[in-house]
Amino acid sequence: MLSASEIRSRFLKFFLSQGHEIVRSSSLIPREDPSLLFTNAGMVQFKKVFLGQEKRTYNRATTSQKCLRVGGKHNDLENVGRTARHHTFFEMLGNFSFGNYFKEDAIKFAWRFLTEDLKLPKEKLYATVFQDDDEAEQLWLKHTEVPAERIFRMGEKDNFWSMGDTGPCGPCSEILIDQGEELTCGPNCGIGKCDCDRYLEIWNLVFMQYNQDETGKRTPLPNPSIDTGMGLERIAAVCQNKHSNFDSDLFQAIIQYACTLAPKANLKYSHSSPDTNDIDTALRVIADHSRSAAFMIADGIMPSNEGRGYVLRRLIRRAYRFGRLIGMPECFLYLMAAKVVEVMGADYTELTSSAEFMARVIKEEEERFSKTLDKGLALLEEEFSALKSQNKTCIDGLVAFKLYDTYGFPLDIVNDLASKRGFSVDEDGFKEQMNAQKQRAKAAWKGSGELDLGSRFQTLLEEGLRSEFSGYTQLNDESRII
Ligand code: ATP
Ligand code: MG
Ligand code: MG
Ligand code: MG
Repeated sequence: MLSASEIRSRFLKFFLSQGHEIVRSSSLIPREDPSLLFTNAGMVQFKKVFLGQEKRTYNRATTSQKCLRVGGKHNDLENVGRTARHHTFFEMLGNFSFGNYFKEDAIKFAWRFLTEDLKLPKEKLYATVFQDDDEAEQLWLKHTEVPAERIFRMGEKDNFWSMGDTGPCGPCSEILIDQGEELTCGPNCGIGKCDCDRYLEIWNLVFMQYNQDETGKRTPLPNPSIDTGMGLERIAAVCQNKHSNFDSDLFQAIIQYACTLAPKANLKYSHSSPDTNDIDTALRVIADHSRSAAFMIADGIMPSNEGRGYVLRRLIRRAYRFGRLIGMPECFLYLMAAKVVEVMGADYTELTSSAEFMARVIKEEEERFSKTLDKGLALLEEEFSALKSQNKTCIDGLVAFKLYDTYGFPLDIVNDLASKRGFSVDEDGFKEQMNAQKQRAKAAWKGSGELDLGSRFQTLLEEGLRSEFSGYTQLNDESRII
């Protein structure tokens, strides 16, 4: 069985042999790019190269890039645990051409890697092309063994890729694999018709041709380029004959470890299909969010009430709540993070160098949240019964805000809990309260947003920097893996 780690290195080596420079993953925090909260794809660190604003010593590159999709144009938070293929944190394998090769070689390389190197069954592979991209379709027919009936034309939503609202973009061509009839979602199952996991999207080849500005206008890039992305967790599951990313080696080690943390609950992961088993869903969410939290902290993000730090806080608290639901002890996520370091530290040394600091930050956050969790849940229960007796189904914005402000419940937790019980949340009302609070805070402004970590975290951060933390010095976008 091919491990994820072997697949990652095979991918990089394959593209090295095709004249690509192996470039190290950049940080989850995009450098000098205020348009983006997190690195959400392999191309992010090359954005300026695509735009012709920066020159590198190479015009072909390959990476395994740390990505986060929580917020902005690409947000998979709600999908995690509910689909077999989405994570908040994942690794994207990619090959890039900066004005060097274009569609033809991108298609040839992808086909060769999948069918010759990984030996995937050719008859199960499908391709999609952008609606009017005759050229791409012809290239698939000419250079691969995908027949016309397994090539599908798709619209903007699926086959025009952009990093965010602005930046490099272009039509794309994707490769999907048929995971078997038994996964069908019914008579309407099919590429472009449903979103189930039978036809799993594994690799996206983007034909980078434009730069999109704030008004949505697209101007051609100086040179047509290539940007591709393949999720390591997805291709690992496929190579390991699993239908869920969570059954791949990357996740199983972490999930099995999670089960041991609640001995009284006698937890077992039962490999259920998405959304059918609450314990499995919770274990998937915990495993996913632990990976994200570990990688975020290793890249220098700290829990806070603003920006990136707030996303981290939400992930920790969400995982924590799911954990308590299935009988996890009062603090457990810091141990999960340590497991992530054990499983992935050899490939990402920044994890190892910040391991001790990371554990302390997460434990501190767990302790804080555990103090208010039960009180907040009780308040929510009261609200549910009050609403029921009034025959109402919508939670007041003020109540949601109180849960947020006093008990530390991010809105997505309230949403999760409410929808499970058939209630909705007045999100507009919540936002109004939030804005009103921001105005009040502005009037009394003393700190500086993201850096305003709160004194306990500040102390932790300083202690961490004094002792263990050396992550930053080792992280350098331009340093190579080999
Ligand atoms: P999907 O349609 O499944 O949500 P996508 O079209 O949003 O995927 P792309 O933006 O094309 O994904 O990203 C390139 C590749 O990265 C995908 O083909 C997939 O293999 C992988 N990928 C995308 N999102 C995720 C995620 N949330 N978790 C794991 N892998 C992902
Ligand atoms: Mg998506
Ligand atoms: Mg897609
Ligand atoms: Mg895609």
